[in-house]
Amino acid sequence: MEVVHKSQESVKKMIKNCEGRHVQQVAYSSYHDALTQVCFGCNKVRTSLTKFDIKKFDNDYEYDKDGNII
Ligand SMILES: [Zn+2]
Repeated sequence: MEVVHKSQESVKKMIKNCEGRHVQQVAYSSYHDALTQVCFGCNKVRTSLTKFDIKKFDNDYEYDKDGNII
């Protein structure tokens, strides 16, 4: 699945857009105040998490302030 980074407002719009047409899963992270939609109809993951937020979940690596692997 392709991961698409969007604003939270735009993820909300896409959730409404796919509602009733596509099978989707929606997750909200209160820690990051981020919304993630997994849509099996579009075959896409739309998230308001930034790439840096996602990388931070991976503890096998260390990152500099710009989110690059050190
Ligand atoms: Zn969809």
